[in-house]
Amino acid sequence: MNPKRRPIIAGNWKMNMTATQARELASKLIPLVASVKDRDIVLGPPFTSIASVAETIKGTNISLAAQNLHWEDKGAFTGEISAEMLLDLNCRYVIIGHSERRQSFGETDETVNKKVKQSLKKGLLPILCVGETLAEREAGKLNDIISRQVTGGLKDIQASDMQKVVIAYEPVWAIGTGKTATPQQANEVHALIRQKVKALYSAGIADGLRIQYGGSVTPANVSTLMAMPDIDGALVGGASLKPESFAALVNFK
Ligand code: PEP
Repeated sequence: MNPKRRPIIAGNWKMNMTATQARELASKLIPLVASVKDRDIVLGPPFTSIASVAETIKGTNISLAAQNLHWEDKGAFTGEISAEMLLDLNCRYVIIGHSERRQSFGETDETVNKKVKQSLKKGLLPILCVGETLAEREAGKLNDIISRQVTGGLKDIQASDMQKVVIAYEPVWAIGTGKTATPQQANEVHALIRQKVKALYSAGIADGLRIQYGGSVTPANVSTLMAMPDIDGALVGGASLKPESFAALVNFK
């Protein structure tokens, strides 16, 4: 953590939580994090639960993220959701290019980039996810993969928009597996991402960029991760599905 950058703790609920369950989770969470002022708290429900969470968290210190969006404004794209639809439900952030979407739904650096551009054009703040698989890490391709995903995801993004972008480093081998990258391993890649952004933009932009770590973050390991100089937040799957554990993450010391 660096005092210059405001920490951001986001929950990615994935395909969990009906609208009713989502309302219940959000209501229980509100009092547990009500006194938090110095960090951003973000919930990422599935599309069908966004409205019920939006209603529940209205007027609180919690923001909403969607888990995906389409890059076109509107039209014949059956099953897709537009930026305007998300903004209408008070979404502030959108998670883009999660490894599950890259692996199971054919997302590429090109489609990820179209989504990042569309979110910025429409006023949503993108959380751009990057991360290597275990095979890529073991084959010594970590730097290449991260550089490619960062460069590809940010292609044609103006410097003036970069303060709206959050990057989430999520090693694929650590997602939902209980295997967390060590704080040192994670920080090394965060520093690499910052270096890449410095080369693409400037030292000032790289310094201001918030980079979250994601991959089996729990209340037990969040503080050591957040103590690292280049880790500015967490993107959390499993541990975000219970109000007590998500609140413990938000309240990390
Ligand atoms: C995620 O999917 O973004 C994630 C990090 O999941 P988990 O915390 O369950 O590993």
